Amino acid sequence: GSIFDRLRPPGRNVELKDATDPHAHDVQPTDYPEGIESTIGNTPIFKIKSLSEATGCTILAKAEFLNGAGNSPKDRVALNIVSRAESAGLLTPHSGDTVYEGTVGSTGISLATICRARGYHAHICIPSDQSPEKTNLLLALGATVSPVPPAPIVDTNQFVNLARRLAAEHTADPARPGRGLFADQFESEANWHAHFAGTGPEILSQTGGKLDAFVSGAGTGGTISGVALFLKPRVKGLKVVLADPQGSGLFNRVRYGVMFDAKEREGTRRRHQVDTIVEGIGINRVTRNFEVGRELVDDAVRVSDEQALAMARWLVEKDGIFIGSSSSVNCVAATQVALQMGPGHTIVTLLCDSGARHLSKFWAKAGVVADASGTSLDEVLNAVPRT
Ligand code: PMP
Repeated sequence: GSIFDRLRPPGRNVELKDATDPHAHDVQPTDYPEGIESTIGNTPIFKIKSLSEATGCTILAKAEFLNGAGNSPKDRVALNIVSRAESAGLLTPHSGDTVYEGTVGSTGISLATICRARGYHAHICIPSDQSPEKTNLLLALGATVSPVPPAPIVDTNQFVNLARRLAAEHTADPARPGRGLFADQFESEANWHAHFAGTGPEILSQTGGKLDAFVSGAGTGGTISGVALFLKPRVKGLKVVLADPQGSGLFNRVRYGVMFDAKEREGTRRRHQVDTIVEGIGINRVTRNFEVGRELVDDAVRVSDEQALAMARWLVEKDGIFIGSSSSVNCVAATQVALQMGPGHTIVTLLCDSGARHLSKFWAKAGVVADASGTSLDEVLNAVPRT
């Protein structure tokens, strides 16, 4: 091979041509992929060395943080939502049309980026307890940001309800240019379908269908449902496992068909907010994007904050992998699934976003990674709160 073979990033569908190759000039300038949208999807998949060695399994991570617009799997969803709305004639570039969304961050960042690229404004409603990095990013992108206090879904000012209402008010106001579009990631089929059409097929082709389990958290449920709906009929015996942070009701929804844990059924007040440091996954209500694939989810693993923090440190320490909280939950659950299945199995999970987006909350708690090369996987999986 030429030097270009070595320059080619493994896993990405990037073809670098050797300029001395006569066919290199077959590429015409008009063939260039256009715009930031072209960097969405086709994310690399790689083996996490430390966890694979420790479990005797092949634990594969799909690097969704390398989606190039908003740097998370939500790029796929945001692009699909905006493209569908354009096709339906609901959005006209540079007309003042504004996309409204309720989001804990990632979807907002992806929408804000793609709206910029396509000539729309983005208005993001976000609970005020999320990491400030995400709000700062949204502001830098020029999105309008409405931070709202965390509230139950029945509250009219809950972040999703507020976004829906603001979109309707915009459309109804003749004094305002353009229309309001409610992106609606929790209920829209454009969400799970982005994963059914992208993430799922990519995993199938990157593994050759040789995988035993797919492990993922759920915020809207779009990822786990879309991937499960695509992969289950195509990969015999595939187990789909939900990675659920402490405080989330989805674990019980998968295990027992009900949403709330025993304590809550006994009359404790329903939590309006998942009681965890983990952002982006775990909810206590039914969403269409989770329900559309729920019957295909075989099991759930509950992950504590302490396990997530310990795993995040472990991955930096052993592998140089620096990830956010939901990715860490995914890795804890993937490891548990590997240990349950036993050596020789292949487990795929997702790395959703970078630790950089969680420096001031999750990573502030995780702490500086010391050289603790003696840490065992048992210590990570049995992590207890540090005093
Ligand atoms: N990880 C992060 C960082 C997220 O923001 C989200 C979605 N809010 C998820 C994972 C979960 O993805 P989904 O909504 O498809 O269930």
